[in-house]
Amino acid sequence: MSLVVQKYGGSSLADADRIRHVARRIAAERATGSSLVVVVSAMGDTTDHLIELAGQITRDPDPREMDRLLATGEYQSCALVTMALHTLGTAAVSLTGAQAGIRTDTAHGRARIANVDPARILRELEAGNVVIVAGFQGSTADSHSAGEITTLGRGGSDTTAVALAARLGAERCEIFTDVEGIFTADPRVVPEARLLPVIGYEEMLELAHQGAQVMQTRAVELGWVNDVEIAVRSTFSDHPGTRIKEDPDVEQRNKVRGLATDRNVAKLTLVAVPDRPGIARGVFAPLADAGINVDMIVQNVGHAGATDLSFTVPRSDLVRARRLLEPIVTEMGARELTVDDSVAKVSIVGAGVQNAPGYAARMFGTLADEGINIEMISTSEIRITCMIGEAHLEKAARALHRAFELERPEAGVPAQAH
Ligand code: ASP
Ligand code: MG
Repeated sequence: MSLVVQKYGGSSLADADRIRHVARRIAAERATGSSLVVVVSAMGDTTDHLIELAGQITRDPDPREMDRLLATGEYQSCALVTMALHTLGTAAVSLTGAQAGIRTDTAHGRARIANVDPARILRELEAGNVVIVAGFQGSTADSHSAGEITTLGRGGSDTTAVALAARLGAERCEIFTDVEGIFTADPRVVPEARLLPVIGYEEMLELAHQGAQVMQTRAVELGWVNDVEIAVRSTFSDHPGTRIKEDPDVEQRNKVRGLATDRNVAKLTLVAVPDRPGIARGVFAPLADAGINVDMIVQNVGHAGATDLSFTVPRSDLVRARRLLEPIVTEMGARELTVDDSVAKVSIVGAGVQNAPGYAARMFGTLADEGINIEMISTSEIRITCMIGEAHLEKAARALHRAFELERPEAGVPAQAH
């Protein structure tokens, strides 16, 4: 019996027509004889609306109640998709995350899957049903509070799908969305962006971390660890999309596989902070405790016992970060805390970048030729990121896309390969 796990995103389920379209796709796959587990997101912007609604009631909702509220989005879509399948004569049953055996830790709003108990899903498959699972949610396995509803963080339905594919040993895991797959850059920023037929897990993870929003990063991680090949495809076409998998040919391909752009970034600077032990801890420990991710960090050479310390946080966390740091900064004796939310990041990503020093030089040279000032730089083994003014983001991305010939398939491959 070949088992397929599919996931459909919110925009693919935004209204009754789209739900019927998705149901027809599922029924067609079922008709080929495969057993099917289908994970669904909430319809359209339902999750955003629910968050907004809670915000109208309180600025500080209880995390447990918030999870109960948000989980209802996926309750709706899984029931509706199941009804649509019934109208097509396809046997199907919907399950909540808890019923599907998704067991998590107790971290409301960002729970991690501890294990998957597949008993109920297997029974339903055995009975001939297509199993429609509410994504993005699970229930706690912890003995004191067992059975509490949790959610897995925004975009968490991807993680539900990959976890189920891993646990059930699925033959395929397909993520259906409103774009054709993973591109060399965000096509809204770089019109010449090209669809990638294949991308390695590590490269995909870096792109996702640096702002590519097609898949939740944890889902990619989970796929990598469990060796689940993931196809990212469009709900609205038959294009095979992009396969995310271990890529043995990585060294033969273009060394830069793609670029990512990210506007969700803000820079904070502690001006003239005393240059002594404990300052970095005093600044970053409270941010970590508040769950705020610090990304790039630059500390300048000290002068007269004082130094400037700059770092970036997601722009969506800026207000919280500032509120946290203002009293601390005064206490430390820094001159002031400045913030800049008109910055953005552009990154090049490719498995070969680490072995080719020329890539950093080409990136910096390209930005210089465009007259774009680089404010901060960070690197990983397979990535170089520059922080620049947000106003230059599109120009920078297009110039880099050209400089690394990303619009050309197999660019960078030795001539005889063409
Ligand atoms: N509905 C949730 C969200 O919008 C989960 C998902 O779509 O994957 O974040
Ligand atoms: Mg969604």
